[in-house]
This record gives sequence, structure tokens and C-alpha cells, in this order.
Amino acid sequence: MYCPKCLNQSLFIKRKGVIDIFINGKKRDNGRFLYDMDSAREDKLLADFENKCEEFFQWYSNFNNQDPIEYVELLTVDVKCENNCKFSPMERFSAVDVVIKREDIEEILTDLSEKYKMTLQLKI
Ligand SMILES: [Zn+2]
Repeated sequence: MYCPKCLNQSLFIKRKGVIDIFINGKKRDNGRFLYDMDSAREDKLLADFENKCEEFFQWYSNFNNQDPIEYVELLTVDVKCENNCKFSPMERFSAVDVVIKREDIEEILTDLSEKYKMTLQLKI
């Protein structure tokens, strides 16, 4: 991945870490989960992600004015640059297609939006 500090293709997402989930720019306090790319349990990773998305959908389904679900971001601070660049905790990087594939994200969100009768217009 591209490193915004040294401008090289030298940035990697760590094998283990934490992902924050932002949906339409909103993140719940507990809207995060651990990942481990060395684990053979990809099903557990997807289940953890789905659980966190479902918590959001349950919460969001109580809103009177619901915007369509458009933006889903999986962001992490658990990155490393080969050139040892340092990042602040505010600098987050997308884990889409690195930790969880875009197709899996779309499939999980499609199922949840049907279950909770929400409009999904993904722009990720
Ligand atoms: Zn760098």
C-alpha cells in the first residue's frame, strides 16, 4: 500500500490488529473487532464482522429518519511502513480487500439490510 509519509509502496496492514467500523461516517463505541489474518478461522472473522454490523443495524433501525446505508469503512491503525514511518492514532487506513474482501462485506450488508428493512446503496 501507498505510504502517505514517505510516498512509497511500503505500507502494510499488520497480520493482527483492530478494525473500526464506520457506517455512513458513524461509529458506535463498541464498533470494532479484532482480526488475525494468520488464523485459519476466516469464518470467525466474518462472523465477528457481521455481529458488529448487526449491532449497528439494530441501533440504527430505531432512528426515525434513516438515510440509506451508503458508506461502510473498515479502518485500522495497525499498519507498518518498511521505512519505519510513524503515524498518529488519527491516521487510519482501509482494511477493505486486505482483511475482508469487498464481496464479503457487500454480501453481509445486503443480508442485514433485508433483515432490518433498510435501504442499501453502497458506494464503497
Ligand atoms: Zn512510509
